[in-house]
Amino acid sequence: MRKRIVAGNWKMNTDKSSAIALAEAVKNQLVSVPSNTEVVLCVPFVHISEVKRVLDGSSIKTGAQNCYTQPSGAYTGEVSAPMLRSYGVEYVILGHSERREYFKESNAELAQKVKIALENNLIPIFCVGEVKEERQAGVHISVVERQLEESLFHLSAEHFFKIVIAYEPVWAIGTGLTATTAQAQEMHNAVRQMIAKKYSSDIAERISILYGGSCKPENARELFACADVDGGLIGGASLKASDFVAIVNSF
Ligand code: PEP
Repeated sequence: MRKRIVAGNWKMNTDKSSAIALAEAVKNQLVSVPSNTEVVLCVPFVHISEVKRVLDGSSIKTGAQNCYTQPSGAYTGEVSAPMLRSYGVEYVILGHSERREYFKESNAELAQKVKIALENNLIPIFCVGEVKEERQAGVHISVVERQLEESLFHLSAEHFFKIVIAYEPVWAIGTGLTATTAQAQEMHNAVRQMIAKKYSSDIAERISILYGGSCKPENARELFACADVDGGLIGGASLKASDFVAIVNSF
């Protein structure tokens, strides 16, 4: 059975006290985690140690939202995968559409980030997804295939197996527009077929593929019920503990 994952992406939100309060509220309200489900909070770098301290003793994992391509050195302002690992971080979001758009991260740069994350035992939550014009042009599946090919498909099966994929249609992120269950299932199934073709159907069946894009308590249940949707990457709704916990309880 595939691992189910609900990961919150806090983005650049919260200050020290509200980050601690939000982590505490999620921990307290999440009375029990559904079976075979991992819950992750991907928080701003500066809050990692405080959030980790709050979550210690719970099953909720701490994640980051990015890391640099190099392990250390003269890269002012960057944060490396070994640094994250030294704080007990277990997951890192890579290739989020906001990083691709505002920071011009390319598929090739993301391949380097995936490599260093894996070398440091971080689990990449690797985001793929098309923009609105690409969906309208009917090329959404080939866009995602290219993202996978250029950033992940050079990996050995052993390494690829450690990746979590998040399908996030860019037109659905933070817009209130959600992919229909048919659109989500079509893409998740297509991704699984790409993995089967590149690696094996056994690996394809065991990789967790999350949906992200205006997922909220009102639509999580129907999205998570799709055969190939194994959970969600949650932006806006992860900033309200009761909404995030309701989403976790939507399996
Ligand atoms: C995200 O940023 O990963 C995301 C899915 O955002 P939202 O849920 O706000 O659309």
